[in-house]
Formats: sequence, C-alpha cells, structure tokens
Amino acid sequence: MAGETTIHRYPRQTGGAFVNAYLVESDAGVIAVDSLLTVSESRAMRAGLEELGKPLRAVLLTHSHPDHYGGLTELVAGDDVPILAPQGVIDTIARDDDEKEHILRPMFGDEWPAERTFPNTPIADAESVIFDDVRFTVIDLGPSESPHDSPWIMGEDDRVVFLGDQIYDRKHCFLADGFHQEWLANIETLRERFPRDAVFYIGHGGPVGPADWDWQRTYIETFLAAVQAADWSSPEHAQAEVVAELKRFLPTEELSFLMELSVEPVAAQLGLVVAGP
Ligand SMILES: [Zn+2]
Repeated sequence: MAGETTIHRYPRQTGGAFVNAYLVESDAGVIAVDSLLTVSESRAMRAGLEELGKPLRAVLLTHSHPDHYGGLTELVAGDDVPILAPQGVIDTIARDDDEKEHILRPMFGDEWPAERTFPNTPIADAESVIFDDVRFTVIDLGPSESPHDSPWIMGEDDRVVFLGDQIYDRKHCFLADGFHQEWLANIETLRERFPRDAVFYIGHGGPVGPADWDWQRTYIETFLAAVQAADWSSPEHAQAEVVAELKRFLPTEELSFLMELSVEPVAAQLGLVVAGP
C-alpha cells in the first residue's frame, strides 16, 4: 500500500512568490523537492521542516537552475541525506555555478548563499526511490527549460508530478538558455504521458494541470515570434518591442525580469543580433 502524504509548499504565501519548493510529509519522514534561492526563504523552509518534527530523508531536484538548488545549504542544514538528480543535472550545476555567482551576487547580495551545496547522488532515467512507502520516479528530460531538467512522479500512478519549470503558472518565463525547441518538444511528450486529472506541482506558482500545456506552448511561441518580428537594427528598441509584446500577451510584472534577460540571448541564438561581450 502506498503511504499517505501531505504536500507543503514554500514559501507559504501564495501570491508574489518568486519561486516555490515543496516538503512532502509522509508518516515518518519528509522529502524535499527543490530548495528555493535565497538564504531567508530556504531557512524558513528548513524551519517548516523542523516544525513537522520528522527527519528529512532526501532532496529531489527538478532541474539545474539556481533558484531551485541555491537554498540547499540552508535546507539540508548539515543533515547527511541524498540530494538526488540525474548526472546531467549534477554536471550542469557544477559547470554553471561560477557564472550564476556572477549574475546573482549583484542582484541578491547576501541573500544568494555564499556556500552552495550541490546534488550528491545521481539517479538514472525512470529509476525510483522509495522513502517511507512513498515512491518517487525521475524523468531525465535533458535540456528543456534549463540545460538539464528532471521532473519527478510521486506515487504508483502518473497523477502527481513535480514538474519543475516545464509550466509556469501565468508568469513570465526564462528562455535565455536557448533550449526552446527541446522545451516545445517536451511539452508534447509530457502532454501525452500524463492523465487528464494529473496535478502538476511546479516551480513558479500552481498547482496546474494538463490544460496548462497549451498556455505554456503559446507563451514560448509568442516570445519567439516577438523576437523574430523585432527590428534588430536597434537592439535597444528591439528589446523594448519584445517586452511590450509579451506584456500585452501576459499583463503582469511577475517574473518579468526573467523574460527580459532572455530576449537578447535568444536573438543572438537566432542570428538576429551579434552576441554581446
Ligand atoms: Zn525556476
């Protein structure tokens, strides 16, 4: 028999959160999915874990981006637990962490952890781990929203999935890594894979469901079309055109900076503008 679980989302407030991570509480222990970015939020997540009064069994990572692994040091707090991810996610984090330090330190100051913890336990595609009778099965997706992504299915059917950032909940999206073609292809693969009543716990908002694949596809396609349509003889104006078009499509400021950071890298990738220094 599968164990009973309660899924706790962090940070606890539902509106305006930058990034979400989860504690899955079972009868006798807790599994974390991702770890947030900042020192204060990951510390609050650790405090939430301690309130539950049950041991942390493991951390599962949904992809290689720093808003999902940056809080590991505070979350794990010295506990000797496996931090599980496919080898590709582990390698990407190790490769890119220096570069993320350069980007995130000026943005977040001391809130970007000085000491980062990396995943320590590789897991192969479709492999499961079981803690307190609860099964978690990884999908080694490869490049998608980030350079390497790894959603996790919880339980014995395909109805509860920690999807990472494959779907954003009506927030602006990060496309700067340039794997939008893979992302679009993965949307179709994952759309086929999960039943209509599946619940997706995601990295930015949610939970969402299979009906939201269409929104995510449309967001990516709208972004690509806007980059292609912009007049790149003036990169500054082109950037402003793309941002304005995406804000017409999605009139919110939420995570707008992630979209704004993506415009020039994608234009460079598409050969519309020479990449900056
Ligand atoms: Zn994210």
